Parts: sequence; structure tokens; C-alpha cells
Amino acid sequence: MSTIAFLNIGMHGRVNPTLPVVAELVRRGHTVTYHTSPAFRDEIEAAGATVHLYPGGDQPLPNPPLPITLVDGLVRGAIELVPAVRGDLSRVRPDLIVHDNACVWGAVAARELGVPAASSYTTFAFNRQVPSPTRASLDLLQGAKPGYFASFLRSRRQLSRRFDARGLPVVDLGNIRQPLNLVFTSRAFQPGAEDFDQSYRFVGPSIGARPADPSFPVDVLRGPVLYASLGTVFNADPKLLRTFATALAPLGGTVIVSTGQTDPCALGTLPANVIARRFVPQPEVLARAALFVTHGGMNSANEALYAGVPLLVVPQGADQPLVARRIVELGAGLSLRPQDVAEDAVRARARSLLEDPRFRAGASELQTAQREAGGYRRAADELEDYLRNARPVAQRSGAE
Ligand code: UDP
Repeated sequence: MSTIAFLNIGMHGRVNPTLPVVAELVRRGHTVTYHTSPAFRDEIEAAGATVHLYPGGDQPLPNPPLPITLVDGLVRGAIELVPAVRGDLSRVRPDLIVHDNACVWGAVAARELGVPAASSYTTFAFNRQVPSPTRASLDLLQGAKPGYFASFLRSRRQLSRRFDARGLPVVDLGNIRQPLNLVFTSRAFQPGAEDFDQSYRFVGPSIGARPADPSFPVDVLRGPVLYASLGTVFNADPKLLRTFATALAPLGGTVIVSTGQTDPCALGTLPANVIARRFVPQPEVLARAALFVTHGGMNSANEALYAGVPLLVVPQGADQPLVARRIVELGAGLSLRPQDVAEDAVRARARSLLEDPRFRAGASELQTAQREAGGYRRAADELEDYLRNARPVAQRSGAE
């Protein structure tokens, strides 16, 4: 049996797909450690891993949430965290490191310790059709204050001077590849899946049991259940969430609105059949839902398609416009730009999604592909195969 160390950044969407994989590896007799921040401790422990906390508490999300602030935060985070992480891992002595594709300190620690590594993609994998949001490009500089990029490059140079950062992209740090890249979606959903070499394994959505949430009133839900969420990262505009609620209320038995970072009270008084909460057990809700109004976060899209639920995607940023385009292209839903959100527009689209059987058929077709991709069991198989064949990585002489 092996020891496998997971390292991640502090975002639900990045952590969630890894949890069933951790639980499966533990079930197969492996020892799993997981480096994270306090907010994720309980759920990771519940999956069976030994948690190591990063020093410094919860990591702030990039602010504003732009690719440039993300890469800058990742490099600064790495400079700060590598010594502590490396110390922990030299005691753990893992046979394999699994890090998120943006977890710079995970990749650096693997090199420093000479441990084989695999990368976890909870986004699409990136290619010409899906350009990495952190690739070196003019787009990356959008919204950045003057001098920000130069300061990023200074930190980036410091990272390479202090640690073994060979093989790491200079700028595209949200796209750190390894000899094994686990992509948590199906080949059918990934645009241009044929472009990827064998190092990419499209294992499909990794959906397993999450800790139960007894406070959520599953028993009182009446069909059709209509669900809306703009995810956990973006500060959802309360007006947008309110419009979803009032647009959907006349069409639904129960309407559930997950408000994320936004206080549910900010939505004002809502129709009686609306439940608004900061966080709901999403896979459980989707298993009962007839429709999902979503920002198109990759996990939300994957989870909805796994449940065969048609989507109305209202992309807020990041990779969400791409997800929206793909959903529409594959006939599994519709999209609406945030600036076009109005009660009529949402209700008309929701009605089409509920009444036109082509959308449910499109979602069902993807549901089959998403399930056949194998999910967390296949991810665990791939990691075990990789462990059997991986060779130690040469360490840099004189690394700090
Ligand atoms: N999620 C949840 N309950 C909520 C809202 C979100 O369980 O009320 C989970 C959801 O199942 C998904 C993740 O949080 O796994 C959100 O990830 P996604 O990539 O969709 O969006 P992000 O929050 O990263 O923008």
C-alpha cells in the first residue's frame, strides 16, 4: 500500500472532486494526507485523509478575482508555503503527490522532494479551443493595475531562485501539467478532446457521498424542483439571485436558491415556495431537480450533467462563458448573459428547458458520457497505475 499526499488551494470547486478520490484510495488501503486550510478540514477528514493545515489560516481568494491576481497570489503563496509543506512532506514520505493544476507549492514540493506528481484538473483541460485563463497573453493583463505584472515577475524569479521550480510554467500557473493529468469531466464534454495526449485522463465527474446536511429540508421539497446558484467564489449580485427566485417561483413546486457569499436576507421577501440558503447539498438537490440555473462553474455543470439536469447558464467570469457555450453546443441547455437577466427572459428560457424534450435528451446523452467516464473509481485506478510505473524524479543539486 502507498502513501499519497494531496495538496490543494482553498476553493470548494477545486477540493470537492478530490474528496471521493481520497475516500476511494483510503478504502483501498492507501494512506492519504491532504494539505489544506481550516475551512476544508472537516470534510477532508470525513473523507479519511490526515489533514495538514497550511500555516496562516484560511487563504484569501484572489481579489479582485482575475487571472493575474490568481497567478500572483499563487506565486507569493508558494514562496511562503513551500518550506512548511516540504517539511511536512519529508516526514510523511509520500510515494505520490497529487496537486491541483494551480497549486504551485504542490508542484514545487514534489520536485524538491523528488516525488512523482499528478495534476488534478477541475476545470476543462486547456487547448486551443479552451485557452488557459492564466496563459501569457494580453488578456491576462486585463484589469491589472500598472506595474502589477512586473511585480508578479519579480516574485516569479524569486520562486525559481529559492526553489526547484523546473518544469513549472513561467506564467501559466493555473495549468501545471504532470505526466498524469486527471481531468474531472468526460471526453464528450471537453472541447477538442482529441487534441490531448495520453497524459490526460478524462475520468468524468467525481461525485461521491458528501457529509449529510440534516438542516436541509429534503423532505418538504415539492416537484418540479428548480434550483439556482451562482457558486461559492463570485460575490453573487442579490438582484440577480432575486430575479431567479421570482422568475422561477410560478413554474416550480419548490425553488431553491443557493446564495453563496451573499446573505440570503439581501434578496428581500421571496415567494413562499422559495428556499434561499447560503449553501445547500448540491448533488442531493440536483438529484431531484428539473432545471438548474447556474453560473456555469465547471463542478456545477459536471454535477448537473451527471444528474441529467438541463441548465440555464448565466456565466459570471473565468471559464464560465466557455462552459455556457459548450452546454448550448451540446443541446443540454441555454445561456443568458448577466446583463440580460430579467424576470421574463429567465422565465421564458426556464419554460423552454422544462417543456422542450430536446434539452432533457441533450442532458441525458451527456449524463451517460459523464457516468461512463468512470468518476472517482477510475481516478483511483489511474493513480494506482501511475504509482506502479512512476520513477523517482531527479532532484536539483544544491536546492535550498
Ligand atoms: N456547492 C454546494 N452547495 C452550494 C453551492 C455550491 O455543494 O450551495 C458546491 C457544488 O456542488 C460544487 C462547488 O460547490 O462542487 C462549486 O464549484 P463550481 O466549480 O461549480 O463553482 P465555484 O464555486 O468554484 O465558482
